[in-house]
Amino acid sequence: MRKQLFGVSLALAFSSCSLAATNVDTMADNIEADVIKWRHHLHQHPELSNREFETARYVETYLRSLGLEVETGVAKTGVVAILDSGNPGPVVALRADMDGLPVPEENDLPWRSQVTGEYDGKTVPVMHACGHDTHMAMLMGAAKILSDMKSELKGKVKFIFQPAEEGAPPGEVGGAEIMVKEGVLKGPDVDVIFGLHISANLDVNKVSYKPGGAMAAVDPFKIVIKGKQAHGAYPWKSVDPVVTAAQMVMSLQTIVSREIKLIDDAAVVSVGSIHGGNRSNIIPREVELVGTIRTLDKKAREHVYEAMARKVKGIADSMGASAELILPLDYSYPITYNDPELTAKMLPTLQRTAGEDKAVLAKAVTGAEDFSFYQEKVPGLFLWVGGKPLDVPEEASPAHHTPEFYVDDEGMKLGVKLLTNLTLDYMNQAD
Ligand SMILES: [Zn+2]
Ligand SMILES: [Zn+2]
Repeated sequence: MRKQLFGVSLALAFSSCSLAATNVDTMADNIEADVIKWRHHLHQHPELSNREFETARYVETYLRSLGLEVETGVAKTGVVAILDSGNPGPVVALRADMDGLPVPEENDLPWRSQVTGEYDGKTVPVMHACGHDTHMAMLMGAAKILSDMKSELKGKVKFIFQPAEEGAPPGEVGGAEIMVKEGVLKGPDVDVIFGLHISANLDVNKVSYKPGGAMAAVDPFKIVIKGKQAHGAYPWKSVDPVVTAAQMVMSLQTIVSREIKLIDDAAVVSVGSIHGGNRSNIIPREVELVGTIRTLDKKAREHVYEAMARKVKGIADSMGASAELILPLDYSYPITYNDPELTAKMLPTLQRTAGEDKAVLAKAVTGAEDFSFYQEKVPGLFLWVGGKPLDVPEEASPAHHTPEFYVDDEGMKLGVKLLTNLTLDYMNQAD
């Protein structure tokens, strides 16, 4: 009897699950043309970070048409909408970013961008050269499907349309960090967050995931080396900050090559700028180094912080100079860290939605994402969704942030399904 009952309830669970899956597939098919239309509109009208005014209005208008509770002006231009099923359950947040980049579009598309914006006091061409137009379109599609399924949901969905993922303009703040500060994860308190990024390197219809550190923490730094100025012909009268800087740059390279356990996770220390002096025959008083640190592991990040301070002081002392390390310099992104337990729990959803052979384990990347700020507060999963046309070889696919950047409309349907199924499955698995 007990066995039989178990069999019946299992069969019921399976049938309701596959019914939901079929529904989502059909609904994603039905809405695909709209998603593409939204994407083309957004692509044609890109706006720079913290300037997503028309973009926000476009998104807001659509979310209101779905009958959602909408808040605008979050972290300047962010839009947040809540879908309340009325049933008890968790709060699932889904996030899309909204900003374009100062890049001239060189694609021959009827919906290519021809607009300009203002950046750092200059008029610049603007393009959705990272694919955030697709992120918004996919999330609008998921919002439509989930709204249509409202009575079947458990709990609430929070749709987060975030500005300034690429970084706020000079002198401003923005992005996920500010959204979190303004309480986007509170009232109702978010239990879990999902996000995805379209990828120009991954085939359409594929999704890739990486548990743990998936994208790097970013820590820009500045080192100011102070010595003693002298005539270039009398170096013994100087404390030479140029030679000190040269030694320091080489020494900083040994942090990663000699101190970080690279078989665990990658790390990077790059010096991107050196400034000092103005003439061939003057040893200057001061040299400034500016660079960036990328780490994928919390311990490695702490180690690099400690080693930077040690090297900077040690080298400066050995040369009789003094040095100041400013770390982090002006901003800092945490590691985009996919909660391993959550990733394992949602993996069947990825495999069911994309197909087992199309949900692929990815390597971590040393690029960064401010999605990490949400993941610092709540468990989160950030995925890559394929946007590369199947007939384009990976080496020929133009990189993100370039004038030729292109992702195929066809890739978005999988993204819509993933956002929807992740929400449904998480709700159904929550106690
Ligand atoms: Zn980008
Ligand atoms: Zn991006």
